[in-house]
Amino acid sequence: ATTLDTAWAVRWMRDTAQVVSENRALLIDLDRAIGDADHGENLDRGFGAVLSKLDDGTPETPAAVLKLVAMTLMSTVGGAAGPLYGTAFLRAATSLGDATAVEPSGVAGMIAAARDGIVARGKAEVGDKTMVDAWTPAAEAAQTAALAGATAPEVLAAAANAAHAGAVATEPLIARKGRASYLGERSAGHQDPGAVSTALILQAAAEAAGG
Ligand code: ADP
Ligand code: MG
Ligand code: MG
Repeated sequence: ATTLDTAWAVRWMRDTAQVVSENRALLIDLDRAIGDADHGENLDRGFGAVLSKLDDGTPETPAAVLKLVAMTLMSTVGGAAGPLYGTAFLRAATSLGDATAVEPSGVAGMIAAARDGIVARGKAEVGDKTMVDAWTPAAEAAQTAALAGATAPEVLAAAANAAHAGAVATEPLIARKGRASYLGERSAGHQDPGAVSTALILQAAAEAAGG
């Protein structure tokens, strides 16, 4: 199986920038339906800035890559998602320590740390129709896969699939956090933009690992 080393972390972020750019209009449309139509633009700007930072030089460890991403997203994305994703990547980086390769249990720990950071910052619970509805099943699926002896790329694939299912499952929900909550019952009938972008980010992680 592919080793989840620094090169993987860089591929993950380059793939994320590409997939976010390709899905910019989709994320804008989802956020237009239940928010203020800027989620695709915010993330595209943020990951575009990540790309230019990575072009300046490669950090030494996977954690250093994720920390660079955290700092860049916090200073460029804005809105609700900037601080939330910034915290997620910062906590993920911290969970990896100075490891040069991420083991299956490390993948599960990284995703759980990201999720916990988002919850600490935004106080959303599962079912509130936010990105937590994608990160939580992703963290659970990753832990289950790691405990069952899956390889690190397989753990990422399990997380990505669970995040995707979690994002799809936000469609009928009524938002209780963030801008979409201002709409009350009218927020039902649309997938949450942050849950959808979370699924894209984790899918990119799995694909960068060859999964
Ligand atoms: P803004 O709402 O400020 O315009 P974005 O459009 O970039 O920010 O991001 C909106 C996304 O942020 C939502 O789709 C949701 O997933 C997420 N979000 C908003 N508030 C919270 C929160 N309190 N906890 C977790 N996620 C949240
Ligand atoms: Mg928005
Ligand atoms: Mg906004």
